[in-house]
Formats: sequence, structure tokens, C-alpha cells
Amino acid sequence: MFQRILVANRGEIALRVIRACRDMGIEVVAVFSEADRDAPYLDLADEAICIGPPVPAQSYLNIARIISAAEIANVQAIHPGYGFLSENSHFAEVCRDCKIEFIGPPHQAMALVGNKNEARKLAKKVGVPVVPGSEGLITDEKEALRLAEEMGYPVLIKAAAGGGGRGMRVARNDINLRVGLQAARQEAEAAFKDGSVYLEKYIEQPRHIEVQILGDRHGNLIHLWERDCSLQRRHQKLVEESPAPNLSQQVRETICQAAVRLVKEAGYFSAGTCEFLVDKDKNFYFIEVNARIQVEHPVTELVTGIDLVREQIRIAAGEKLGYTQDKIEQRGSAIECRINAEDPAAEFRPSPGTIKRWHPPGGPGVRLDTHVEAGYRVPPNYDSLIAKLLVHQPSRTEAIACMRRALAEFQVEGVKTTIPLHREIFNHSAFVEGRVDTTFIERNWMKG
Ligand code: ADP
Repeated sequence: MFQRILVANRGEIALRVIRACRDMGIEVVAVFSEADRDAPYLDLADEAICIGPPVPAQSYLNIARIISAAEIANVQAIHPGYGFLSENSHFAEVCRDCKIEFIGPPHQAMALVGNKNEARKLAKKVGVPVVPGSEGLITDEKEALRLAEEMGYPVLIKAAAGGGGRGMRVARNDINLRVGLQAARQEAEAAFKDGSVYLEKYIEQPRHIEVQILGDRHGNLIHLWERDCSLQRRHQKLVEESPAPNLSQQVRETICQAAVRLVKEAGYFSAGTCEFLVDKDKNFYFIEVNARIQVEHPVTELVTGIDLVREQIRIAAGEKLGYTQDKIEQRGSAIECRINAEDPAAEFRPSPGTIKRWHPPGGPGVRLDTHVEAGYRVPPNYDSLIAKLLVHQPSRTEAIACMRRALAEFQVEGVKTTIPLHREIFNHSAFVEGRVDTTFIERNWMKG
């Protein structure tokens, strides 16, 4: 096992990894940009190293600076968290070349599944259904128009290197498509330095169901069941839960097995997630693999009792899973609300600033993963996630009641948050009955 690990990330996930290291008796080194200099979690690490200015390209995304910090701190492994360098296969390769273990999948598998177009090919190869779409990348407008005609509108333009909902455009006619292609290419080029795009049929009002995967270096690969992440705004998740409500056991098992087949074919190990869309007729389609720990991983931890970050670290150190598929149960119901510093009443505009009052909820069945406290200044430079509020109860009905109680207790002043919106969601009959899809928030809260 490793004696010393570096966390190449910030915020709640940096704290999550620090905690896992503490539990495992591993020393942990944090890195921070100048914007995070005063972050309270830095005091919980054994050492904290400044890696540069607030702009991510010069700090959390800067491979040379992260590797230098790792060498100075003399660590054996790097945990990348999510976002930033977590899905950068070049970074994983550089770590290996520097004799530092990358806590994640092998770089070849990451490169393979990280390209959505390649991942689609892989899915087709192992008989996993994909959303109907272009065979490969779209090179010219004429071809796109012809394909759209063939598939029928609406279609979705997607960036091959996409993530975080960027480089994605819905087109409902030829004019939309022409304009959307340009815009998606430019957005993808700016965000990922790769402007290549492809087309998919736009599935109307689908559910987003994803499967947690865990595999070791010895060929053991299992799933930890699904999460329903249908509650989204602008293709970004806001509420996640497990088990998915109103999903038959047969569909659940078929999707989970499809996920295992797909990542196995990629030569994958460590934690990962296979994402699917499920349409109104319960047809499911693979959309992408996330080759990292995800924001919503605690939902799965609560229902399965498995600490995913600890498992990632164990696997990177070469240990075996030590349990088999038949031992993995979904116990009770777990739900997560993402608490972001943003204003739901103003199109979810970020709301950075100083938190003046912070009264977190607690009590039975509540887990709060957060790096903030009263007096903390939410920097404007990064993702607006400030906390993940989770509940775990024997049934979904009890979990909803528990979340309502926790949301009512949760008081934050100084920045706008998604808490008021969550309170409304948890009182909305469609959500309570488990009848929501990926357009639910847009249809109900973002009109006009
Ligand atoms: P990203 O990597 O940018 O997060 P994904 O491919 O994971 O993009 O998709 C994110 C979300 O976008 C999905 O959860 C879903 O809401 C929506 N989406 C993606 N593909 C489609 C599609 N073909 N039809 C309808 N919605 C889609």
C-alpha cells in the first residue's frame, strides 16, 4: 500500500480524498491555487503546496506544476479527483513515466473510452445499443444535413471530446443544424482543443441512468448498480439517486450487464461510470463512459456500503477487489442534492462571494460532503459546487421525507444557492412519484 498520496484537485473532492487517506493511514499532500490559499481543508492534509495562480491552466490543469509538487512532496501516487486532469490520458501517462501511480484507469483505456465516438464503436462491437447517429465524425455540412434527414429531426450535435454539457446543440431543422454545427465546433475547440463533432438522434424527454463500475488489475470487474441522474439543468446533474425509481429489475440488470461488457472490452480497471439514456418505451442507449470517480459517487456508497475512493486507492496499489458481484446489494434508497453557489431564479447564474451564515443539516440518515464553512469565500474561478447533501433511508418515500427535513434545516446566507429549488423539487408530485426526465427542470423552472 502507498504511504503518501497527492490530491491533484480542490474543494469537496480534495477533502473526500484526504478523508479516505486518513481512514487508510496514508499520508496526504494537498495542492492549491492562490484562490484556494485559505481553504479550511488544506489544514487537514499533511502538507499543502501552492501550484500557481487561480486560472486553472496555470494551476489545477498544469501537468508540469502538479508533477513538480508530487516530486517535491515525494508521493507514490496521485489522486486526480474529478474534472481538471482526471480524464486526461496524457497526464496519466506522464505520471507513469515519472514512476508515480495514477489513481484511475490505465491511460490506454482512458484514451479509448474518453473519445465519445470511439466509445460508441466499442459499444456497438459488444452489442450494447447506442443512440442512432453518424458512423463517425462529421466533416462537412452537406453530410450532416443528409444524415439529419435520414435520422429525422430533432438531432443532437455532440463534441467527440465533450464533457459538462459543452459543445452540445439540439437542432430541430436545417437552419438550426447549420448554425449549431459552427457553434458546437467553436465551443468544443475552445473547451477541449478538439473541435470534432458527430450527430446523434435527440431522444425526447429521456431518463439518465448510469452504472457504477469497479474493476481491479487482476481481471475482476463488477458493477455497483445504477444511479438515476435525470434531474439536470443544461445537461448538468442536480439530483441523483439509487435505485432508479420505476425501473423494472429486468431492465436494471440488462443495463448493468451491458455496462460491464463495454468497459471490460476497453481493458478498464479502477472506478468508472457508464452512462445511458432510457426512452419512454424503456429502450436504453449508451452515451458515454466517465473514466473517473464522479461527483455523485456517495449515492452508490450509501446503498452498497462500499467506499469507492478507498477502493480506487486499493486497486491502484495492486490489491484485489476481494468480493464478487453476488455480494453487491442495493440496500434502501439514497438521494443526493447538489448544493451549488448559483441562483436558480436567474438561469443558474454563478453566485460567488463570502458565506456569511452556514447552518448545515444533520441527524439520522444524513451525510453532508462539503469543504465550506461560515466565512468561506466561494471563488469565482471554479465550479460552483459547495456541498453534496445526501440521505439514506430504507425506502424512497422515507428518503424523500428525510431530504425535506434536511433541506428545511439547511441555512446559507451570503451567496445564492440551489437549496430553495431543491425544496420545491422534493415537494413536486412528478418527482415524488418518480416520473421525471432530463427536461423536468427546464420545463418547470426555466420557462422563457
Ligand atoms: P457530457 O459529457 O457533456 O456531460 P453526455 O453525453 O454525458 O455529455 O450527456 C449529458 C446529458 O445530455 C445527458 O444526461 C442527457 O440529458 C443529454 N443528452 C446526451 N445525449 C443525448 C441524446 N442523444 N438525446 C437527448 N439528450 C441527450
